[in-house]
Amino acid sequence: MAESLLEVNHLKKYFRDKKGFLNKNPKPVKAVDDISFFIKEGETLGLVGESGCGKSTTGRMLMRLIEPTEGHIQFQGKNISEMSQAEMRTVRKDIQMIFQDPYASLNPRHRVERIIEEPMIVHNIGDKETRKKKVRDLLEVVGLNSFHARRYPHQFSGGQRQRIGIARALAVEPKLIIADEPVSALDVSIQSQVLNLLEDLQKEYHLTFLFIAHDLSVVRHISDRVGVMYLGKIVELADRDELYENPKHPYTQALLSSVPIPDPTYEQEEIELKGDVPSPIDPPTGCPFHTRCPQAMDVCKKVVPEFKEERNGHSVACHLYDDQHMAI
Ligand code: SF4
Repeated sequence: MAESLLEVNHLKKYFRDKKGFLNKNPKPVKAVDDISFFIKEGETLGLVGESGCGKSTTGRMLMRLIEPTEGHIQFQGKNISEMSQAEMRTVRKDIQMIFQDPYASLNPRHRVERIIEEPMIVHNIGDKETRKKKVRDLLEVVGLNSFHARRYPHQFSGGQRQRIGIARALAVEPKLIIADEPVSALDVSIQSQVLNLLEDLQKEYHLTFLFIAHDLSVVRHISDRVGVMYLGKIVELADRDELYENPKHPYTQALLSSVPIPDPTYEQEEIELKGDVPSPIDPPTGCPFHTRCPQAMDVCKKVVPEFKEERNGHSVACHLYDDQHMAI
């Protein structure tokens, strides 16, 4: 079994509630609330959940673009959560990000060659000539042409801009790529092209991915394992096929019930969730999902369910699987 490239333990991010500036003791916004997971070398871990569940904050904490409130992040065996920002500069060469919005993430005033070259300059890689050649090679690798180097971002389509973002991430030969909703701003017809490109690059460069998305069907395409987040917590995590075929958490079951199945003979019953996602400033007591859960019991309102492994790396945080309920 491949070694863990990244290990996250009890990671938390509590923000100050800005609206509470008149309040001397504002409650924290619990954006990420005690999550633990690992990513093995060469694998893709998908992280899914509704908007505001903490998945993007998690991705940014792994690069220390946002400072964790508590917890440990271990990358290549080193505890990077306590490194100084100067030490983190070296680590950031090995962890790169691909952003959701290819329109906003590329500087419109710079030519593509400058955009892709920039991370190499920051990390002192190669001389001018070597970098220039690498930019042209990378453009070919991501399915563009080397003559595109002289163009500006506005001269490209959304899918092409995302390819430029991918080339920029690859420029410093990272080990881990955090892809934060990399296809959600693209047309459906372009999404699969970009996903296929990411898969091909993963094989060719032995990359490891954290793939963040709100769309379960996108995550299924690319992930080896999938974690489901709800209100700052990972509520279920399992191998991809196990999660999709045998979802245990009522939230995962509801999310999956709304994913269309391309089989007209299959009748799928959608599980409708009551109400909206509660505020992370004042999350529900006990299980954070109890206010919307179709299977909630009395215990769910009072006791936080433990996130524990049920079998073969399939972990879930739900009282249905407590020993006394014998639901597995
Ligand atoms: Fe639903 Fe209770 Fe399980 Fe939470 S712990 S998901 S409320 S059954």
